Amino acid sequence: MTAAIEGRGLRFGYGTVPVIDGLDVRVDTGQLVVLTGPNGSGKSTLIRLVVGLLSPDRGDVVVLGRPASDPVARRSIGYAPQGSPGRMVLPVSVTEVVASGLVKGWSGPRRDGDVDIALAAVGLTELGAECVFELSGGQQQRAVIARALVGDRPVLILDEPTTGIDRAFRPHLVGELRRRADAGAAVVVVSHDPEDFHDVCDRILFMEDGRVRDVGHDEFHTLEDVGR
Ligand code: ADP
Repeated sequence: MTAAIEGRGLRFGYGTVPVIDGLDVRVDTGQLVVLTGPNGSGKSTLIRLVVGLLSPDRGDVVVLGRPASDPVARRSIGYAPQGSPGRMVLPVSVTEVVASGLVKGWSGPRRDGDVDIALAAVGLTELGAECVFELSGGQQQRAVIARALVGDRPVLILDEPTTGIDRAFRPHLVGELRRRADAGAAVVVVSHDPEDFHDVCDRILFMEDGRVRDVGHDEFHTLEDVGR
């Protein structure tokens, strides 16, 4: 197993009180990992540390052997932040949003093909030419996910990808993420819903008291306080 993401001895607080404290985490290539836990437990904060949007007060985050702040590490991650449905008011097409996720180093010469593949992966092939602000909130969220998927980056991090997306489409997205992990990507999804990922994920990480711990699939169903 090769470590794709490693956090060691992490501590981070927005003010004086730490949100994350003494956290260790490791995700390997080829794994699909669900990160869950109560609202406000620090899941999005942990993700922002991994994608290099925040720096830890203490400890290290390493992505594919490089510090998370290293531009190469950042470019290796396809990141879909938590959605704000309906908030994408840019006068750009869906295709342009997705293409903005293509980064040097991870996208081959098939640039148009890469965008088409990512659009198909989220079921937006027919809407590529539409302006994003004309899309529904769920469709906008799918465009953001396609932006993370485009170019086959080796680390995928999606913060609540199924929230706001219609139920009928969810298994399609979950299957796509499983395929990406099987092809060798490290995939981390924040999710509160065991139904979405239970059958396909390799591990479930539960966040509480500033740390994460592995929980079993059965335990995931019985957790009382995972923000559902
Ligand atoms: P989760 O993703 O598990 O809901 P977050 O990482 O969003 O948790 O938030 C963890 C804690 O940090 C919460 O108490 C939240 O209010 C606080 N927090 C999150 N973002 C900020 C911010 N930008 N400034 C100050 N406090 C924040």
